[in-house]
Amino acid sequence: MAFDSLTEKLQNVFRNLRSKGRLTEDDVKAALREVKMALLEADVNFKVVKGFIKDVQERAVGQDVMNGLNPGQMVIKIVNEELVKLMGSETTEIKLQPGSAMTVIMMAGLQGAGKTTTTAKLAGKFKLKGKKPLLVACDVYRPAAIKQLQINGEKQGVEVFSMGDKNRPADIAKAAIQHAAKNGNNIVILDTAGRLHIDEDMMAELQEIKEAVEVHQTILVVDAMTGQDAVNVAGTFNDKIGIDGVIVTKLDGDTRGGAALSIKAVTGRPILYVGMGEKLSDLEQFYPDRMASRILG
Ligand code: GDP
Repeated sequence: MAFDSLTEKLQNVFRNLRSKGRLTEDDVKAALREVKMALLEADVNFKVVKGFIKDVQERAVGQDVMNGLNPGQMVIKIVNEELVKLMGSETTEIKLQPGSAMTVIMMAGLQGAGKTTTTAKLAGKFKLKGKKPLLVACDVYRPAAIKQLQINGEKQGVEVFSMGDKNRPADIAKAAIQHAAKNGNNIVILDTAGRLHIDEDMMAELQEIKEAVEVHQTILVVDAMTGQDAVNVAGTFNDKIGIDGVIVTKLDGDTRGGAALSIKAVTGRPILYVGMGEKLSDLEQFYPDRMASRILG
């Protein structure tokens, strides 16, 4: 389960705090130093950790907490609240166009991040909400990616639009939207091509799609297991093409949690969903408060 090692460390710190009847300022500071270490070991961004500890400390060493009935519990409550804030406080929904208007969503991300799988998972979510999504195969470099989208689309009972690998992704996107308009699809999800690393070609291609069609939401898919690399990738994509939100995959295998904890604070963009497994149903909406509770165990 995600965050196992972070949770264990935090629980140790908190057990200590709770066992003390009264707390001195030094007790709190010592505990927060351990929280800081635990977060850094969880691969949370250094600046994010620094700001977080400062915020918690400012609230936790005041007289109200020290003289309160249960100071240990108060400190834990403050850590919990600041964690929720760090992850964006509120759940962010993917913004759909009003009424029956069609929403075009572009999925972006590095190869292997889980983009194609997540695209199909999302389509399933929309279908459950009574929408009629169309999946579009814009990854023209890997024929296997087109096939994979078709197989997953079929599993989800969602139509997949493909023009093979001989057309430009921007032209495929245009044709797909025309098809969707005729076909009554109200959500179009473009599965774009990833690369092993960020490169100019990939960004130019995404830009070209954005210029050719009106993209309402750009969603970046990142792999939680890559830790701070995922955060850097999110920052770069946001700077180059602009993203509306992030889906963090493979949280089921991530024992550290650094990416999930840092993305909002570093990029300013919210996490929308998290991938919790390989099955097409393994996609969960992101609730900062529930995630904080999970982390604190
Ligand atoms: P793409 O290259 O970004 O399109 O990546 P794929 O969708 O092909 O996914 C790469 C691998 O990651 C596949 O084996 C997926 O089954 C796996 N995967 C995707 N999302 C998750 C997830 O949330 N958890 C786990 N455990 N595996 C995932």
